[in-house]
Amino acid sequence: MNVVPQIAYFSMEIALELEMPTYCGGLGLLAGDMLRAAADGQLPLVGVSLLHRKGYFCQKLDQQGTQSEQPCEWTVERFVKECQARVIVKIEDRAVHVRAWQYEVKGNKGGIVPVYLLDTDLPENSEWDRHITDQLYGGNEWYRLCQEIILGIGGVRILRALGHDHLTRYHMNEGHAALLAMELLDEHALEAGRQTFNHDDIEAVRRLCVFTTHTPVPAGHDKFPLHMVISALGRNEVIEMREVFCCEGELNMTYLALNLSHYINGVAKKHTEISQRIFAGYKIHDITNGVHADTWASPPIQRMFDRYIPGWREDNFNLRHALSLPAADLWDAHAQAKNSLLDRVNFETNSGMEANVLTFGFARRIADYKRADLIFHNIERLREISQDTGPFQVVISGKSHPGDPVGRETIRKIFRSIKTLKNSIRIAYLNNYDWELGRLMTGGVDVWLNTPLPPMEASGTSGMKAAVNGVPSLSILDGWWIEGCIEGTTGWAIGGAPKNENPAQRTPADAESLYDKMEYIVIPLYYRERERFIDVMRHSIALNASFFNTQRMLLQYVLSAYFGNTEE
Ligand SMILES: *Cc1c(COP(=O)(O)O)cnc(C)c1O
Repeated sequence: MNVVPQIAYFSMEIALELEMPTYCGGLGLLAGDMLRAAADGQLPLVGVSLLHRKGYFCQKLDQQGTQSEQPCEWTVERFVKECQARVIVKIEDRAVHVRAWQYEVKGNKGGIVPVYLLDTDLPENSEWDRHITDQLYGGNEWYRLCQEIILGIGGVRILRALGHDHLTRYHMNEGHAALLAMELLDEHALEAGRQTFNHDDIEAVRRLCVFTTHTPVPAGHDKFPLHMVISALGRNEVIEMREVFCCEGELNMTYLALNLSHYINGVAKKHTEISQRIFAGYKIHDITNGVHADTWASPPIQRMFDRYIPGWREDNFNLRHALSLPAADLWDAHAQAKNSLLDRVNFETNSGMEANVLTFGFARRIADYKRADLIFHNIERLREISQDTGPFQVVISGKSHPGDPVGRETIRKIFRSIKTLKNSIRIAYLNNYDWELGRLMTGGVDVWLNTPLPPMEASGTSGMKAAVNGVPSLSILDGWWIEGCIEGTTGWAIGGAPKNENPAQRTPADAESLYDKMEYIVIPLYYRERERFIDVMRHSIALNASFFNTQRMLLQYVLSAYFGNTEE
């Protein structure tokens, strides 16, 4: 068969543009970077997500670090065009009307990837239904299920209504979109002249579907009580075909996606290994995440690349030539990016940060396993290091999920530590971590910190963004850093390899290891062996940015998941 492949990429969140709050964190930025790489490569992809009129949330922090949340309203019409198509999805026997808005991801050679953002805010719908597509990861379980019904089932129907009849692959970026496979089962049954699907439809659907899992712990997988699913969808097949749909009274979206995909992958080698253990009956492949180099390199770094590494945007493998970047130019480009960050930090927090002081950065979702407060484990030791070894300053940012009391408390705890250290170390917590701030921070700090509790970090991508900017990582050996860390060459590892210790044992040891690396290696190198520090910066770009990018990642999806052999 000689069909041009056409791929539909489904994701609950996609970061499409700085001013569009249609994402929460890493998953959405990865999806956006993937589509940006596809547009650059002029590949036949289309994206599907929800409109998220109220975004995830905008964060406000008071003096104590107590977080409050506000909806991020945005002017939809400024960024997207309404499509004429309308479809109907049944929820609890109500007809929910769905429309789509089209966004165009534009590539660097004129390629365009259309993205359809689904929206239920139509006058035909009940007041409650009009808000289904408002808030990313908001509401309760029922709200989330309704969102996933719109995304999966509504998404496939909108694609058909828009004339996408010949799609050769449906890629589920995480399990949220798994109900799309049920819609494909229905379509296949209908073509075979049957009213309902059965086991004969499974193989055809599996050939079409690709699933990327992003969570290394079973508890992180999306699931819904069966009675809830039945009342929403009214489909008894969910129980009759239990080996496809259910496990112990629940519809587990991950298992649904696993059962109905021919190609399944984890997002880093370690994560794939762990997923293979959790999902023993399935073959899990391995495609390590990347970032869109063009999007994450700061403007001064981009100008330097343009001068010394022509063609780096079109072909990221060229970044290996960073090994020959002149030290003075690399340092100067980095200094400009650092100034942009410090201007913002000083303007917002009045913390008086200085350009010639070694600056560490830490920013991510404040979830418990990320251990955002690890650096404050022993405040006295931290103070001693800054007094005896050399000064440093720290820029921190991150949102906690509104429903996560531990995360909210972690932010308050960090604020207390910042106050305690007020007279010895400059530390700033920036409000409302988002894409723009992420760009400033990963480009503008000198060393990127990451301290998750292994093996919880599936991949992590912010350290890859830092690498594009020549910013080395000082990180726990977990996720991508197991592959990216060459000690002393691309950055530094904190702690040893995970040995399944319990967190209470592991955390103090990791903190000591972090302090040791700061005291004996990173700070002395920065102040006393600048040439060698710059060499680490070069290797971050040459060895890591040339590989951990979405161009290489997309190529792997194309070769193995989109074009690949489906007869496994
Ligand atoms: C890159 C990014 C993330 C994900 O970073 P991790 O290293 O995977 O935690 C989250 N939020 C924003 C705003 C980002 O830019």
